[in-house]
Parts: sequence; structure tokens; C-alpha cells
Amino acid sequence: MSGRGPRAAVAEPVRARKAKPPTVGFVSLGCPKATVDAEHILTRMRAEGYEISPTYAGADLVVVNTCGFIDAAVAESLDAIGEALAENGKVIVTGCLGAKGDIVRATHPKVLAVTGPHAAQEVMDAVHEHLPPLHDPFVDLVPEQGIRLTPEHYAYLKISEGCNHRCSFCIIPALRGDLVSRPIGDVMREAEALVNSGVRELLVISQDTSAYGVDVKYRTGFWEGRPLKTRLYDLCNALGELDVWVRLHYVYPYPNVDDLMPLMAEGKILPYLDAPFQHANARILKLMKRPASSEKVLDRIAAWRRAVPDLTLRSTFITGFPGETEREFCELLDFLDEARLDRVGAFAYSPVDGATANELPGALPEEVREERRLRLMQHQEDISTQRLETKIGRTLTVLVDDVDEDGAMARSMGDAPEIDGLVYVTDGHELAVGEFAEVTVTDCDVHDLYAQLA
Ligand code: SF4
Repeated sequence: MSGRGPRAAVAEPVRARKAKPPTVGFVSLGCPKATVDAEHILTRMRAEGYEISPTYAGADLVVVNTCGFIDAAVAESLDAIGEALAENGKVIVTGCLGAKGDIVRATHPKVLAVTGPHAAQEVMDAVHEHLPPLHDPFVDLVPEQGIRLTPEHYAYLKISEGCNHRCSFCIIPALRGDLVSRPIGDVMREAEALVNSGVRELLVISQDTSAYGVDVKYRTGFWEGRPLKTRLYDLCNALGELDVWVRLHYVYPYPNVDDLMPLMAEGKILPYLDAPFQHANARILKLMKRPASSEKVLDRIAAWRRAVPDLTLRSTFITGFPGETEREFCELLDFLDEARLDRVGAFAYSPVDGATANELPGALPEEVREERRLRLMQHQEDISTQRLETKIGRTLTVLVDDVDEDGAMARSMGDAPEIDGLVYVTDGHELAVGEFAEVTVTDCDVHDLYAQLA
């Protein structure tokens, strides 16, 4: 599972042109996969000469990229569509909620078109129909790396779409289909273009990163004339040659993940794994139908840490799954004590329309689900703080995200953007955004480190 908070609408400066170019407003909600979909659509639009407007009033039509993962996201997406209709009137809907086309049309019958996720072509077809492009090939060029919604120094790199698993609480496979791995040559060329444009950190994302290449039987592809297998190890090894930070998200603890440890130990990819475990109790994991649920996760974590002592582990968990007993929940807390994960996120179980888990007996009241979530987060606080305390006095390399009058806000190898903590460099006023710096850690709290230039 890979839910993330909403992303803001994007804007790009409007250039002076002889004829007024067709102009599109774009609102993007949802997880990093939705962000990448939005980037592909924006890249196509800019390549065809469409301008992007920061306001509804300045746009000829509006594209709303939606999220349909949980009920709150559905409501937020429907609100965003309603606002765009009220403010502009011409709206095309895409993204995960679009796969539930009935809901969108039933709530907002005036939308011009509805497509599902990962549907750049269908969105462009709808845009062409309602707002034809101006033909101007000389001025409609876009940068090689396309249009991105992230800051210039980091970028998401989506390596596959869809998922072969059927976790009982999740409807992503119904929305996005089975696993389709991108050809490794395409992924590497995109990564190279991003690095050439100034990206210093690549965030590898998918629904199930460990499964990369399974659907194409690890087919051989080519990058710079070299054969490469469509396999996570080969991809990480090749990305490691680009000389930027490479961070892996949504990695399930399959045995093939062990093979990545030498690449982390050598510094080819970051010693960081975002592995959504979701629970620790065997019965609940079975009810959740989780991938790799039978793996001995604690043994695997111990072996990873022996190979890569500096490994940062992030995970997410669901509390109050249908039928979860107090004893099973406490087993999850005991797991946290033993696993000593660095970063933990928790969600109270939320019944998603269409998920098979909704039919399981023993649904828990919302207060219990939420009370367990809070208890889990409080339990983890001490562990996360203790993990950060081990860094006090050490010198770390950080990547600068922002600079203001209080110094620089940066991230270490253990901090993914937007979801983990920050390193506040109190004397980092002279640093530049996107620059690497060496800092000595002086203090920490539960999420963040405080440091001075080394
Ligand atoms: S692994 Fe499970 S939770 Fe993640 S996308 Fe696939 S079905 Fe959903």
C-alpha cells in the first residue's frame, strides 16, 4: 500500500506568444504514483504547446488528477472536481477515482471526460477534443526530463505500474491492474535525463518494488548498448553508476531484497528501505493476504543490519484490522520493540469500498482502531528517538532542501522527502538548495536531527 498526502496544484510561468495558446489548469491529488502520472500528462501537454495556468480563471479547461484510495481521499477528490467545475466549468477527470467512473459522473454529471489512472493518452485525447492544440513545433519544446512536480534536486522514478497481489484491504489492483514493469532501458534513460537536469536524488517507486521484472520474466533490455536484466538488483546496480542518491520505496521483504545489501554497503544505493509490513501477527497478516507474510521478518531485518549497520528502516502498519484482538495488537507492539525500526507510520483500518476485508467478521469500532493507532505511535516514539540519538556526535552527508534565516533544512541518507524527518543545519545559511554538505549532529527530537556544518 502506498497512500500519501495530497499534492498541490501546479503552475508554470506563462510565456509571451503571438497567438494565445490553449491553456490548461491542473490539480493533482494523491500518492507519488499519481504525481508521476501527472508529470507524464503535463509533459505531453507542454510538448504539444499547451500552457499551464496557476488559476482556474486563466485556464480554458481544468484536468483534475484524483485519488480513490480511502473514503477521505474520495471525498477530497470529489470536492476538487466540484470546485474546478464551479470556478472554470470545463473539467476532465483522471486518476484512481476515475476508475470508479460511476461515482464521478453520478456526483458531477457535467465533467467532460473521465479516465482511470496511468492514462496519459486518454487524457490527451479528451484535451484534444475539447481544447485543440496550436501547431507551433519550434516554441513548444519541453526540457528533456519533462515536467516535474518535485523540486529540481529530487525526483520520483516509477519503475512499474499495478500489482499482482490482492491484499484484502486494498483496491489498487482493481484500479490500476496487474503488475506491468517498465522496460529497464526506458527507466535508465529517464533516470539519466533526470540526473543531467540537476536531480541529486532518485526515489524509486511502484506498488511492489521487489517484484520488478516478474511479469516479463526478467527480460533482458539495453542501456547504453549494455544488456541489463529487468530485475531490481540490475536496476539498482545501474542506477548506482549515476552518482546520485538512489532511495527505494515499497519494498517487500522477499529473499531477493537480501541481494541489495552489498549495493548499500558499497554506497551504490542509499542504506534505506521503505518496507510496508502492515502487521506482525501471522493470523492477521494471513487475513490481510500480505505479500511475503510467511517470511521471518525479524530474522531478515537482523541479517540486513549485520550486512549494513547504518540501514534506515521505515515501515507502515494498520491498526484495528477486522477481528484484531488486543493480544494480537500487543504482538505488534512487541514486534516494534524487537525490530527497532527507525521510522513508522500507522493508519487506523479504514474500510475501502470494494475491499474484500470489509466482509471479514469482527469489525472494530472506529474508537478502538484509532486508539490502537495512537498507542502504536506513542510506543514507537521512544524507539525512533533512541535510533536518532545514536547519530548525535556523528558526521553525516546531507542534501539541502531549503534555506532560510534560521539556517538550512536538509535530509540525511535516512530521511526520505515528505515522509521522514529533517536535519536542521543551524549555521547552514550559506548552503544552496540541492547541495550536499557534511554536518555534525548536535541534538535530536523524535523526528528530526539538529546539526552544524562539519
Ligand atoms: S501489495 Fe497489497 S497493498 Fe500494495 S498495492 Fe498490492 S494489493 Fe495493494
